[in-house]
Amino acid sequence: MSIIRQSLTQLVELFYPNLCFACQQSHAAPKSAMCIRCEFHIVPTQYHTMEDNPVMERFAGRVQLAHATTCFEFTKGGLLQQLIHQLKYKNEPQVGVELGRIFGRMLKETAPYDTVDYIIPVPLHPKKQHKRGYNQAAMIAQGLAEGMQKEWSEKYLIRNTNTATQTKKSRLDRFANVQNAFDVVQAEALEGKHLLLVDDVITTGATLEACASKLLAAAQCRVSLGAIALASN
Ligand SMILES: [Zn+2]
Repeated sequence: MSIIRQSLTQLVELFYPNLCFACQQSHAAPKSAMCIRCEFHIVPTQYHTMEDNPVMERFAGRVQLAHATTCFEFTKGGLLQQLIHQLKYKNEPQVGVELGRIFGRMLKETAPYDTVDYIIPVPLHPKKQHKRGYNQAAMIAQGLAEGMQKEWSEKYLIRNTNTATQTKKSRLDRFANVQNAFDVVQAEALEGKHLLLVDDVITTGATLEACASKLLAAAQCRVSLGAIALASN
């Protein structure tokens, strides 16, 4: 880069600082939410272009999903895990919106996802939501909706207030508990629709499985699944 161009860039950055949402450093690519260094560390999976992928495999035989994908590769201790941590525990809802936007722009150009009617975030337990101040899945859904130019809504799938939080229960109790934790509201509005169910990181998938099953039982709809990352089981 020539010195003049470099100084020009610096001048522009001085007046229009363009911060990378992942590392908060200023960077010179105005069209991108992330700097080049962070983009190198946060790698897209491209699962949305594959009918069979590790996300579909995770749910095979458990629930009938139309399509399923995650946005980025998950590495333990990596930058993406740090971002998810900020989103869930450090009061950074904007990180979820931004990750969702990037994800949404990816899905917008892909055939099976262009028929999505509603983006539906996995509801958070009301106690947790109260403590956190927001539902991280809803933040991702909001960004996805922007990126895909689709509608997102929290009104169709809700979490009942009478289920306990998961931590003190045995694995089997947890499974039974999560199966009954969700309710579908206004199911008739979901008839014939293609729903994209959204969460942050998929681990066991039990919550997503329960949500998808509830939606499929309540209405003649198709359910696809989108999450930021797939963690090892
Ligand atoms: Zn960065």
